[in-house]
Amino acid sequence: QHDVVVVGGGLAGCETAYQLAQRGLRVRLVEMKPHKRTPAQTSDRMAELVCSNSLRGAALSNAVGLLKEELRRVGSLALRCADETSVPAGGALAVDRERFAEAMTREIEAHPRITVEHREVTEIPAERPVILATGPLTSDALAASLAAAVGAEHLAYYDAIAPIVSADSIDWSRVWKQSRYGKGGAVRGDRAAQREQTAQPDRAAQPEDAAERRDDAEAGDEAYVNCPFDEAQYKAFVQALVASDKVEARAFEEVRYFEGCLPCEVMAARGEQTLAFGPMKPVGLTDPRTGRRPYAVLQLRPEDEAATAYNLVGFQTRMKYAEQLRVFRMVPGLEEAEFLRMGSVHRNTFVDAPALLGPAMELRAMPGVHLAGQISGVEGYVESAAAGFVCAILLAQQLRNEPLRPPPPTTALGGILTHLGRKQPTYQPSNITWAHIAPLDPAHGKLRKRARYEVMAERALRDLDAWWAAG
Ligand code: FAD
Repeated sequence: QHDVVVVGGGLAGCETAYQLAQRGLRVRLVEMKPHKRTPAQTSDRMAELVCSNSLRGAALSNAVGLLKEELRRVGSLALRCADETSVPAGGALAVDRERFAEAMTREIEAHPRITVEHREVTEIPAERPVILATGPLTSDALAASLAAAVGAEHLAYYDAIAPIVSADSIDWSRVWKQSRYGKGGAVRGDRAAQREQTAQPDRAAQPEDAAERRDDAEAGDEAYVNCPFDEAQYKAFVQALVASDKVEARAFEEVRYFEGCLPCEVMAARGEQTLAFGPMKPVGLTDPRTGRRPYAVLQLRPEDEAATAYNLVGFQTRMKYAEQLRVFRMVPGLEEAEFLRMGSVHRNTFVDAPALLGPAMELRAMPGVHLAGQISGVEGYVESAAAGFVCAILLAQQLRNEPLRPPPPTTALGGILTHLGRKQPTYQPSNITWAHIAPLDPAHGKLRKRARYEVMAERALRDLDAWWAAG
C-alpha cells in the first residue's frame, strides 16, 4: 500500500520521497541499482554524486548559495546530509561523497513511510500519482516511453548550453541593441540558426528566415544585443576557438552532435567563414557608430524579462571553463564580462518544461505524472534536489486538495519554477542564477552588483520564511 510512487533514487528522488513521507504520505521508491547502473555511476548507493563532490558556492551573494540556505531552512534532506558530511572547500560546500550517499541511503531506507524497490522501470508506471526522477541518464526504455508520451521533439538526450553573462558587466559603449532587419529576423543562434548555416553556406535569406523573423518580431525590435567584430578580430576569435582546450567527451558521451546544435568550436574548425555565415552573420544589422554592417557579430539574447542577463546566442561549447573565459572575453563588449553560467554540451535527458509541465510539475498531457530533478529541466546537484523538494511540496498540497502555494518568485526555490516555466526558442536546462529570481523593485535605485545580490538574498530569505510559516 502506498500513496505515491517515485521512480529514481538520486538527489531529486530521495528528496521528493522524503518530503512526501514527512508529510504523512506512504511512498514507494523504485531505483534500478544495483541491478543496473547508468554509465556514470560507480556505486550502488542512492544519491550518488557522479562527478564533482562540490555543491558549489556557499555565500549568500551567490545564487546557489542562497538556494542551499533556503533548502536548509525548509528541512531539505539533501542539505542536512551535505552539511553533516561536508569537507573543507573554501567558499564552497563540498561533501565526502561516500558518506553523503550513505547518509542519504540510510535516511531513505529507515523512513517508516518509504518502501524501496530495486528494479528498472521500463515504462511510465500506471499508478498515479507517480514522480519520475530518473535524472540526466534515464535508462533508455523509460526515456523511450516518456518520448512516446510527450512527443519525441519535447524530450532531449543531449544539451548544448551557451554561456550567460550579466547585463551590467557588458561594455555598453561597444555594443548596440537591434534585431535583424529592424523588425526581427535575428538568427536564432541556437539549433535553428545552426541548422540553417550548416546546411546553406550562403548569406542570402534562407527559407527559415521567415519563421525566424516572426519569432523575433514577437521578441521586439531591440531584443538582441550585437557585439561587432572587424575582420582581424573575427579571425583571431575563430583561431582562438579552434586552438582552445576542450573537455574530453566521456566514453558514453561520444556525442553524435545534431547538425543543428553544434558546439561553436566545432563550427569554427569547419572553416574560417563558417561562423560568419552562421550565428555570427551580420546581415540586417547596422552598427550605429559606423553606419555600416560589421564584418561579423555575436548576438546576445536576454535571459529574463528584466534583461539582467544575456546568453551568447549559438555559442554552446565544450571548451574548458578557463578557456571560455579567455576566448569569450575576446568578444568586443565582453572584455570584462561576468559569466553567470558557462557553456557545455553533454548527455542529458530532459523535457521542454515550459511546453509540457503544469503548475505542480506534472505533465499536462498525463495528469498524475510529475517530473522532478534534472529530467524536469533543471541543471546541477543542488537544483535537482531543490526541484525534488518543490515537486513534493506541490504534490502534497494537491493531494490535500489545497490551492497550490509555490515558493515566492523572489526566492531561489521560486526561481527553479520560474526557469521551468520560462519559454525559450530551444529550452535549455540551467543552474540557478540571479536572472531566475524576480529583480529588485526600482525603488532600490542602482546598486552595485554585489550589494544588489545581497539585498535580493535578504529579501528572498524574508519571503521564504513568511511563505514557510504560512504553510
Ligand atoms: P540522478 O542523481 O542521476 O538520479 C537518478 C536516479 O534514477 C539514479 O539513481 C538512476 O540509477 C535511477 N534511474 C535511472 N533510470 C531508471 C529507471 N528506468 N528505473 C529506475 N531507476 C532509474 N551536477 C553538478 O552539480 N555537478 C557536477 O559535477 C555534475 N557532474 C555531472 C556529470 C555527469 C556525467 C552527469 C551525467 C551529470 C552531472 N551533473 C553534475 C548533473 C547531475 O547529474 C545532476 O545534477 C544530478 O545528479 C541529477 O539529479 P537527479 O536526481 O535528477 O538524477
